[in-house]
Amino acid sequence: MALWKSKTPPRIRGLNEIGRYAIGIQWTDGHDSIFPLENLRRSCPCNACANAIEGQIPATAQRLLQLSRLGDAAVYLEWVDGHETLYTTAQLREICRCALCVQEPERPITGD
Ligand SMILES: [Zn+2]
Ligand SMILES: [Zn+2]
Repeated sequence: MALWKSKTPPRIRGLNEIGRYAIGIQWTDGHDSIFPLENLRRSCPCNACANAIEGQIPATAQRLLQLSRLGDAAVYLEWVDGHETLYTTAQLREICRCALCVQEPERPITGD
């Protein structure tokens, strides 16, 4: 379900790697997200993956070679196995599994 259909999604204020297995994103609306790399790879929105990854994914498919922020509205990830993933902020917020998002998925985000 797209939370941001009719609204501009929040933008990225900060991006950092958390150890070797997760990245953290701080948002302009005050939200903080932690994304395990395995989840990011599993939810890769590219045509080749199209959410078709099932079962165990290889270790090289969940290790990052490169992490970059493209402006404040997209994140680019390059994986050790050579795959490339591009997430928009809207896609990232949809897969956020923090306590706030999981407990209150329908909660309107006001952006302040
Ligand atoms: Zn992919
Ligand atoms: Zn969240």
